[in-house]
Amino acid sequence: MSGTAYLIRGATLPDGETTDLLVREGRIAERGAGLSDRGAIPVDAAGLRALPGLVDLHTHLREPGFEQSETVLTGSRAAAAGGFTTVHAMANTFPVQDTAGVVEQVAALGAAAGYATVRPVGAVTVGLAGERLAEIGAMARSRAAVRVFSDDGKCVHDALLMRRALEYVATFDGVVAQHAQEPRLTEGAQMNEGALASTLGLAGWPAVAEEAIIARDVLLAEHVGARLHVCHLSTAGSVDVIRWAKARGIAVTAEATPHHLLLTEQLIAGDAALDPDAVGHRGYDSRLKVNPPLRRDEDVRALRAAVADGTIDIVATDHAPHPVESKECAWAEASFGMVGLESALSVVQAALVDPGHLDWGDVARVLSRTPAEIGRVPGYDAPFAPGSPAHLTLVDPTARRRFGRAQLRGRGVNSPYLGRELPGRIVATFHAGVATVLDGELQTLPTPTDHEVA
Ligand SMILES: [Zn+2]
Repeated sequence: MSGTAYLIRGATLPDGETTDLLVREGRIAERGAGLSDRGAIPVDAAGLRALPGLVDLHTHLREPGFEQSETVLTGSRAAAAGGFTTVHAMANTFPVQDTAGVVEQVAALGAAAGYATVRPVGAVTVGLAGERLAEIGAMARSRAAVRVFSDDGKCVHDALLMRRALEYVATFDGVVAQHAQEPRLTEGAQMNEGALASTLGLAGWPAVAEEAIIARDVLLAEHVGARLHVCHLSTAGSVDVIRWAKARGIAVTAEATPHHLLLTEQLIAGDAALDPDAVGHRGYDSRLKVNPPLRRDEDVRALRAAVADGTIDIVATDHAPHPVESKECAWAEASFGMVGLESALSVVQAALVDPGHLDWGDVARVLSRTPAEIGRVPGYDAPFAPGSPAHLTLVDPTARRRFGRAQLRGRGVNSPYLGRELPGRIVATFHAGVATVLDGELQTLPTPTDHEVA
């Protein structure tokens, strides 16, 4: 409850400073060494890293319409378990989030659940059909105050519609988040195009299908003077295009998913050297089927380097829960997507922190501050400063755990990490001063709640 005060003792902030933090009435009330508890519940954070609450710019919560896969409540619980305090709910629901009414409904469900701030993403086109613009202005002016628009799952492939969308969102400082996938080049595609796809007999998904759309869209964004965000970069060539665009001064930002930073297409072939219980050992494991597809080792290396040098601005999960029957079937019939909220920070630690590409300050930037900036989410610009909303997570980076079903707190179990050992553990998460995770346990919140910080 936001009425409960917590004294977090001896936490190490992203910059290395060790301090106490008093959390009261939804905010950081005091910060400093040796604070007195004044009746607050003590939380021993010695040896733990405090991070600002994580912000996901790319989450599929599936409600309304696909509640058998996930709901706003279950997805918010998964978010809290992963250290997230804000998620952006993608628009490919049913009905689609293409009107003020639907985005307001999703935001209200998020507020009632209380585990995280749910910011709906508005569809760019009506019904994600790619034919005419959705009610972008009405969604922006709604109580949901939508700032991110995306047809994610589908590409806005019509260049004129993309231009109009960019022009429209620029009028209220919004952003279009593009799912860069040229549809004609990817018809029937099943995995990364190349020698391995030929060997496995699966239809190839060429890198150019992603890179060509990004190249077009950065030029459109430059032409109309709008902000563009590119979802889930997966190829070295995409990194080159973004780097070129930024050097030219174009207002583009880009994301990479944890899975594209850790996993390669080689896993689809199976690997007997892996733990026999781990995903991927048997080959054609549909939990590895994702859009865009897992790529080559050299792509993974390019993506890591791009996150490290800032060419890729953020890490976003693309959390995509599916019912078991949609994934436990032949590769060609399986749905694209994997869950990611609960594992994201551990995968970022494994792919970027432990190998020395990022420090914890960088992690705070790519998983909290910058995604909040891109989405224009208030309350994340000065984490840990007295007066700021108490959105934070406490992590034990020295922990190692075998990732299992017990770690999955949403409805989806389509995780590629089941059976694998991952570093790091979320010990506590506070959303607006409410402990959503404490002592490593997801908390049960009373519902409905009204503990959003205004
Ligand atoms: Zn997508």
